[in-house]
Amino acid sequence: MNCIKCGTPLAEHTGPGRPPTYCSTVCRRLVEYEIRRLDRRLGDYEFQLREEQADRNEADYFVDNLGRNRTQRINDLKKWIKADSARLRELCGGT
Ligand SMILES: [Zn+2]
Repeated sequence: MNCIKCGTPLAEHTGPGRPPTYCSTVCRRLVEYEIRRLDRRLGDYEFQLREEQADRNEADYFVDNLGRNRTQRINDLKKWIKADSARLRELCGGT
C-alpha cells in the first residue's frame, strides 16, 4: 500500500479501523484540495456537456478554438469526466 498522493510506501497497518491512505498530514490536506478541485472541475464539465448536448442551433461543422467540432468536444468532455471521476473515486478510498 502506497500513499495515494505521493506514492511513498506506507507502513503495514495493524489494529482496528480503516488503513491509512496517506503518509502524512501534508498529503492528507493535499488530497482534500485535490478532491475539491476535481469536484469543481467535474461540475463544470458536466454543465458544459449538458449545454453541448442541448444546443440545437450550431451545426456539427462549427469548430472551436481547439479545432474541435461538437462531436469531438462532447467526446473530450466525456473522457475528462470519466478520468476525473475515476481519480475522485480513488482519492475517496474506492478502487
Ligand atoms: Zn504522501
